Amino acid sequence: MGEKINVKDIVKRKKEELKQRVEFLKKEGIQPKLAVILASEDEASKIYVGKKRKMCDELGIEQVEYIFDRNITTENIVDIVEKLNKDRSVNGILVQLPLFKHIDMDKVLDTISDKKDVDGFHPLTLGKLFIGEKETFISCTPKGIMTILDDIGTDYEGKHAVIVGRSRIVGKPISQLLLKRGATVTVCHSKTKDISVFTKQADILVAAVGRPHIITKDMIKPGAIVIDVGINRVDGKILGDVDTENALEVCSKITPVPGGVGLTTVLSLLENVVQAAQEQNL
Ligand code: NDP
Repeated sequence: MGEKINVKDIVKRKKEELKQRVEFLKKEGIQPKLAVILASEDEASKIYVGKKRKMCDELGIEQVEYIFDRNITTENIVDIVEKLNKDRSVNGILVQLPLFKHIDMDKVLDTISDKKDVDGFHPLTLGKLFIGEKETFISCTPKGIMTILDDIGTDYEGKHAVIVGRSRIVGKPISQLLLKRGATVTVCHSKTKDISVFTKQADILVAAVGRPHIITKDMIKPGAIVIDVGINRVDGKILGDVDTENALEVCSKITPVPGGVGLTTVLSLLENVVQAAQEQNL
Protein backbone atom coordinates (compact mmCIF):
# COMPACT_ATOMS: atom_id res chain seq x y z
CA MET A 1 0.00 0.00 0.00
CA GLY A 2 1.44 3.36 -1.01
CA GLU A 3 1.20 6.68 0.77
CA LYS A 4 0.04 10.16 -0.06
CA ILE A 5 2.92 12.62 0.00
CA ASN A 6 2.43 15.27 2.67
CA VAL A 7 2.91 18.26 0.37
CA LYS A 8 1.46 20.66 2.95
CA ASP A 9 4.29 19.77 5.31
CA ILE A 10 6.93 20.19 2.59
CA VAL A 11 5.54 23.64 1.73
CA LYS A 12 5.40 24.65 5.39
CA ARG A 13 9.11 23.85 5.84
CA LYS A 14 10.13 25.49 2.54
CA LYS A 15 8.13 28.61 3.43
CA GLU A 16 10.09 28.96 6.67
CA GLU A 17 13.37 28.73 4.71
CA LEU A 18 12.14 31.31 2.22
CA LYS A 19 10.99 33.66 4.97
CA GLN A 20 14.52 33.62 6.38
CA ARG A 21 15.96 34.46 2.95
CA VAL A 22 13.52 37.40 2.69
CA GLU A 23 14.53 38.61 6.15
CA PHE A 24 18.20 38.40 5.19
CA LEU A 25 17.56 40.48 2.06
CA LYS A 26 15.60 43.07 4.04
CA LYS A 27 18.52 43.44 6.45
CA GLU A 28 20.65 44.23 3.38
CA GLY A 29 18.11 46.92 2.44
CA ILE A 30 16.51 44.86 -0.34
CA GLN A 31 12.71 44.52 -0.43
CA PRO A 32 11.66 41.68 -2.82
CA LYS A 33 8.73 42.81 -4.97
CA LEU A 34 6.46 41.03 -7.44
CA ALA A 35 4.25 42.71 -10.05
CA VAL A 36 1.20 40.74 -11.19
CA ILE A 37 -0.84 41.48 -14.31
CA LEU A 38 -4.33 40.01 -14.47
CA ALA A 39 -6.25 40.56 -17.70
CA SER A 40 -9.00 37.98 -17.81
CA GLU A 41 -12.24 37.03 -16.12
CA ASP A 42 -11.04 33.49 -15.50
CA GLU A 43 -12.21 32.47 -12.01
CA ALA A 44 -9.32 30.00 -11.43
CA SER A 45 -6.83 32.79 -12.25
CA LYS A 46 -8.46 35.13 -9.75
CA ILE A 47 -8.22 32.42 -7.05
CA TYR A 48 -4.59 31.75 -7.97
CA VAL A 49 -3.71 35.48 -7.80
CA GLY A 50 -5.42 35.63 -4.38
CA LYS A 51 -3.27 32.69 -3.14
CA LYS A 52 -0.13 34.44 -4.34
CA ARG A 53 -1.16 37.63 -2.56
CA LYS A 54 -1.69 35.72 0.69
CA MET A 55 1.66 33.92 0.51
CA CYS A 56 3.47 37.19 -0.39
CA ASP A 57 1.99 38.76 2.76
CA GLU A 58 3.05 35.78 4.89
CA LEU A 59 6.61 35.94 3.59
CA GLY A 60 7.07 39.72 3.59
CA ILE A 61 7.27 40.00 -0.20
CA GLU A 62 5.72 43.18 -1.62
CA GLN A 63 3.14 42.75 -4.35
CA VAL A 64 1.62 45.18 -6.82
CA GLU A 65 -1.35 44.09 -8.94
CA TYR A 66 -2.53 45.47 -12.30
CA ILE A 67 -6.08 44.25 -12.90
CA PHE A 68 -7.71 45.07 -16.24
CA ASP A 69 -11.09 44.73 -17.87
CA ARG A 70 -11.80 43.77 -21.50
CA ASN A 71 -11.04 47.29 -22.79
CA ILE A 72 -7.32 46.74 -22.32
CA THR A 73 -5.24 46.27 -25.48
CA THR A 74 -2.06 44.28 -26.16
CA GLU A 75 -0.20 47.61 -26.57
CA ASN A 76 -1.40 48.85 -23.15
CA ILE A 77 -0.12 45.70 -21.45
CA VAL A 78 3.16 45.77 -23.39
CA ASP A 79 3.66 49.41 -22.25
CA ILE A 80 3.12 48.44 -18.61
CA VAL A 81 5.50 45.46 -18.88
CA GLU A 82 8.15 47.74 -20.41
CA LYS A 83 7.76 50.19 -17.53
CA LEU A 84 8.02 47.34 -15.01
CA ASN A 85 11.16 46.03 -16.77
CA LYS A 86 12.79 49.42 -16.08
CA ASP A 87 11.43 49.83 -12.54
CA ARG A 88 14.33 48.88 -10.25
CA SER A 89 12.02 48.34 -7.28
CA VAL A 90 10.25 45.46 -9.09
CA ASN A 91 12.15 42.15 -9.12
CA GLY A 92 9.68 39.83 -10.82
CA ILE A 93 6.85 40.23 -13.34
CA LEU A 94 4.07 37.71 -13.63
CA VAL A 95 1.46 37.84 -16.37
CA GLN A 96 -1.36 35.58 -15.25
CA LEU A 97 -2.53 33.25 -18.04
CA PRO A 98 -4.91 32.93 -19.77
CA LEU A 99 -5.26 36.53 -20.99
CA PHE A 100 -8.40 37.91 -22.67
CA LYS A 101 -8.65 36.24 -26.10
CA HIS A 102 -8.00 39.48 -28.02
CA ILE A 103 -4.61 39.95 -26.29
CA ASP A 104 -1.51 38.68 -28.12
CA MET A 105 -0.06 36.45 -25.40
CA ASP A 106 3.25 35.76 -27.14
CA LYS A 107 3.87 39.47 -27.66
CA VAL A 108 3.21 40.19 -23.97
CA LEU A 109 5.33 37.29 -22.67
CA ASP A 110 8.18 38.11 -25.05
CA THR A 111 8.30 41.67 -23.66
CA ILE A 112 9.11 40.53 -20.09
CA SER A 113 12.81 40.97 -19.32
CA ASP A 114 14.43 37.55 -18.85
CA LYS A 115 15.93 38.97 -15.62
CA LYS A 116 12.40 39.38 -14.20
CA ASP A 117 10.72 36.38 -15.82
CA VAL A 118 9.76 34.66 -12.55
CA ASP A 119 7.08 32.52 -14.23
CA GLY A 120 9.73 31.13 -16.58
CA PHE A 121 7.68 31.27 -19.81
CA HIS A 122 9.88 33.63 -21.86
CA PRO A 123 11.44 31.77 -24.84
CA LEU A 124 14.92 32.75 -23.63
CA THR A 125 14.23 31.38 -20.14
CA LEU A 126 12.85 28.13 -21.56
CA GLY A 127 15.79 27.90 -23.97
CA LYS A 128 18.25 28.25 -21.08
CA LEU A 129 16.41 25.52 -19.19
CA PHE A 130 16.62 23.22 -22.20
CA ILE A 131 20.37 23.69 -22.60
CA GLY A 132 20.79 23.21 -18.86
CA GLU A 133 22.01 26.68 -17.84
CA LYS A 134 22.04 27.13 -14.10
CA GLU A 135 21.19 30.83 -13.89
CA THR A 136 17.65 30.71 -15.10
CA PHE A 137 14.14 30.76 -13.68
CA ILE A 138 12.47 27.37 -13.72
CA SER A 139 8.76 27.61 -14.43
CA CYS A 140 6.76 27.22 -11.27
CA THR A 141 4.85 23.95 -11.62
CA PRO A 142 7.87 21.90 -12.85
CA LYS A 143 10.06 23.53 -10.19
CA GLY A 144 7.49 22.59 -7.54
CA ILE A 145 7.40 19.00 -8.79
CA MET A 146 11.19 18.78 -8.41
CA THR A 147 10.89 20.23 -4.88
CA ILE A 148 8.52 17.39 -3.97
CA LEU A 149 10.63 14.68 -5.64
CA ASP A 150 13.84 15.96 -4.02
CA ASP A 151 12.20 16.25 -0.62
CA ILE A 152 11.09 12.59 -0.61
CA GLY A 153 14.61 11.55 -1.60
CA THR A 154 13.92 10.40 -5.16
CA ASP A 155 16.73 8.60 -6.91
CA TYR A 156 16.65 9.73 -10.55
CA GLU A 157 19.67 8.09 -12.15
CA GLY A 158 18.83 5.11 -14.28
CA LYS A 159 15.13 5.47 -13.50
CA HIS A 160 12.45 5.65 -16.19
CA ALA A 161 10.37 8.82 -15.89
CA VAL A 162 7.20 8.93 -17.96
CA ILE A 163 5.36 12.21 -18.44
CA VAL A 164 1.87 12.31 -19.83
CA GLY A 165 1.36 15.76 -21.38
CA ARG A 166 3.70 17.95 -23.42
CA SER A 167 2.56 21.50 -22.64
CA ARG A 168 4.89 24.49 -22.53
CA ILE A 169 4.08 25.09 -18.86
CA VAL A 170 4.33 21.55 -17.45
CA GLY A 171 5.13 18.56 -19.70
CA LYS A 172 8.04 19.95 -21.71
CA PRO A 173 9.95 21.67 -18.88
CA ILE A 174 9.54 18.80 -16.40
CA SER A 175 10.85 16.39 -19.07
CA GLN A 176 14.04 18.46 -19.31
CA LEU A 177 14.49 18.74 -15.55
CA LEU A 178 14.17 14.97 -15.09
CA LEU A 179 16.50 14.35 -18.03
CA LYS A 180 19.08 16.65 -16.47
CA ARG A 181 18.94 14.67 -13.23
CA GLY A 182 19.78 11.41 -14.99
CA ALA A 183 16.38 9.82 -15.60
CA THR A 184 15.50 8.21 -18.91
CA VAL A 185 12.49 10.21 -20.05
CA THR A 186 9.47 9.32 -22.17
CA VAL A 187 6.86 11.95 -23.01
CA CYS A 188 3.34 10.82 -23.99
CA HIS A 189 0.59 13.00 -25.45
CA SER A 190 -2.75 12.86 -27.21
CA LYS A 191 -1.25 11.23 -30.31
CA THR A 192 0.48 8.44 -28.35
CA LYS A 193 -1.23 5.21 -29.41
CA ASP A 194 -1.50 3.49 -26.03
CA ILE A 195 -0.15 5.49 -23.09
CA SER A 196 -0.46 2.51 -20.74
CA VAL A 197 2.41 0.76 -22.59
CA PHE A 198 4.65 3.55 -21.27
CA THR A 199 3.03 4.40 -17.94
CA LYS A 200 3.40 0.76 -16.84
CA GLN A 201 7.19 1.13 -17.21
CA ALA A 202 7.41 4.33 -15.16
CA ASP A 203 9.43 4.46 -11.96
CA ILE A 204 8.42 8.13 -11.83
CA LEU A 205 5.08 8.96 -13.43
CA VAL A 206 3.99 12.56 -14.00
CA ALA A 207 0.40 13.07 -15.16
CA ALA A 208 -0.24 16.55 -16.61
CA VAL A 209 -3.17 16.01 -18.93
CA GLY A 210 -6.30 17.69 -17.60
CA ARG A 211 -8.54 14.57 -17.88
CA PRO A 212 -10.07 13.34 -14.62
CA HIS A 213 -8.74 9.93 -13.56
CA ILE A 214 -7.22 9.14 -16.96
CA ILE A 215 -4.50 7.19 -15.12
CA THR A 216 -5.95 4.12 -13.46
CA LYS A 217 -4.37 1.60 -11.11
CA ASP A 218 -3.68 -0.99 -13.85
CA MET A 219 -1.54 1.62 -15.72
CA ILE A 220 0.91 2.07 -12.83
CA LYS A 221 4.09 0.07 -12.18
CA PRO A 222 4.20 -1.42 -8.66
CA GLY A 223 6.30 0.84 -6.41
CA ALA A 224 6.17 3.87 -8.74
CA ILE A 225 6.26 7.46 -7.51
CA VAL A 226 3.26 9.26 -9.00
CA ILE A 227 2.98 13.03 -9.41
CA ASP A 228 -0.56 14.12 -10.22
CA VAL A 229 -0.58 17.62 -11.73
CA GLY A 230 -4.15 17.57 -13.04
CA ILE A 231 -6.83 19.85 -11.66
CA ASN A 232 -10.25 18.91 -12.98
CA ARG A 233 -13.55 20.26 -11.70
CA VAL A 234 -16.20 17.54 -11.79
CA ASP A 235 -19.62 18.02 -10.14
CA GLY A 236 -18.24 20.63 -7.76
CA LYS A 237 -15.28 18.43 -6.77
CA ILE A 238 -11.63 18.78 -7.72
CA LEU A 239 -10.16 15.59 -9.17
CA GLY A 240 -6.67 14.84 -10.38
CA ASP A 241 -5.61 13.01 -13.52
CA VAL A 242 -4.95 9.90 -11.43
CA ASP A 243 -7.49 7.68 -9.72
CA THR A 244 -5.66 8.23 -6.43
CA GLU A 245 -7.49 5.96 -4.01
CA ASN A 246 -7.06 2.87 -6.24
CA ALA A 247 -3.57 3.90 -7.40
CA LEU A 248 -2.46 3.77 -3.75
CA GLU A 249 -2.77 -0.04 -3.94
CA VAL A 250 0.18 -0.21 -6.38
CA CYS A 251 2.31 2.93 -6.20
CA SER A 252 4.79 3.73 -3.42
CA LYS A 253 4.00 7.45 -3.19
CA ILE A 254 1.52 9.82 -4.79
CA THR A 255 0.71 13.54 -4.57
CA PRO A 256 -2.88 14.26 -3.53
CA VAL A 257 -5.31 16.50 -5.44
CA PRO A 258 -6.19 18.98 -4.06
CA GLY A 259 -3.36 19.78 -1.65
CA GLY A 260 -0.52 18.58 -3.88
CA VAL A 261 1.41 20.10 -6.77
CA GLY A 262 -0.77 23.24 -6.71
CA LEU A 263 0.71 24.22 -3.33
CA THR A 264 4.29 23.97 -4.53
CA THR A 265 3.49 25.96 -7.69
CA VAL A 266 2.78 29.13 -5.66
CA LEU A 267 5.79 28.52 -3.41
CA SER A 268 8.07 28.14 -6.47
CA LEU A 269 6.92 31.46 -7.88
CA LEU A 270 7.92 33.24 -4.69
CA GLU A 271 11.23 31.36 -4.57
CA ASN A 272 11.86 32.75 -8.05
CA VAL A 273 11.00 36.30 -6.89
CA VAL A 274 13.52 36.00 -4.05
CA GLN A 275 16.12 34.56 -6.46
CA ALA A 276 15.47 37.54 -8.78
CA ALA A 277 15.87 40.03 -5.91
CA GLN A 278 19.18 38.39 -4.96
CA GLU A 279 20.53 38.30 -8.53
CA GLN A 280 19.56 41.91 -9.21
CA ASN A 281 21.03 43.31 -6.01
CA LEU A 282 23.79 41.18 -4.49
P1 NDP B 1 -2.57 21.44 -21.66
O1 NDP B 1 -3.99 21.29 -22.08
O2 NDP B 1 -1.78 22.58 -22.13
O3 NDP B 1 -1.80 20.09 -22.05
C1 NDP B 1 -2.36 18.84 -21.85
C2 NDP B 1 -1.47 17.79 -22.44
O4 NDP B 1 -2.10 16.52 -22.28
C3 NDP B 1 -1.22 17.98 -23.93
O5 NDP B 1 0.13 17.76 -24.22
C4 NDP B 1 -2.09 16.91 -24.59
O6 NDP B 1 -1.55 16.35 -25.76
C5 NDP B 1 -2.11 15.83 -23.52
N1 NDP B 1 -3.30 15.00 -23.61
C6 NDP B 1 -4.59 15.41 -23.74
N2 NDP B 1 -5.41 14.32 -23.80
C7 NDP B 1 -4.62 13.25 -23.73
C8 NDP B 1 -4.86 11.86 -23.74
N3 NDP B 1 -6.10 11.38 -23.86
N4 NDP B 1 -3.83 11.01 -23.66
C9 NDP B 1 -2.56 11.49 -23.55
N5 NDP B 1 -2.26 12.81 -23.51
C10 NDP B 1 -3.28 13.66 -23.60
O7 NDP B 1 -2.60 21.36 -20.07
P2 NDP B 1 -1.54 21.86 -18.97
O8 NDP B 1 -0.24 21.18 -19.15
O9 NDP B 1 -1.59 23.33 -18.88
O10 NDP B 1 -2.25 21.30 -17.66
C11 NDP B 1 -2.48 19.92 -17.47
C12 NDP B 1 -3.29 19.74 -16.21
O11 NDP B 1 -2.54 20.23 -15.10
C13 NDP B 1 -4.61 20.52 -16.16
O12 NDP B 1 -5.55 19.78 -15.43
C14 NDP B 1 -4.26 21.79 -15.42
O13 NDP B 1 -5.38 22.36 -14.76
C15 NDP B 1 -3.27 21.24 -14.42
N6 NDP B 1 -2.32 22.22 -13.94
C16 NDP B 1 -2.07 22.23 -12.61
C17 NDP B 1 -1.14 23.09 -12.09
C18 NDP B 1 -0.88 23.02 -10.63
O14 NDP B 1 -0.26 23.93 -10.11
N7 NDP B 1 -1.27 21.95 -9.96
C19 NDP B 1 -0.44 24.07 -12.91
C20 NDP B 1 -0.69 23.92 -14.33
C21 NDP B 1 -1.61 23.03 -14.80
P3 NDP B 1 -1.34 17.22 -27.12
O15 NDP B 1 -0.15 18.08 -26.88
O16 NDP B 1 -1.13 16.19 -28.16
O17 NDP B 1 -2.61 18.01 -27.29
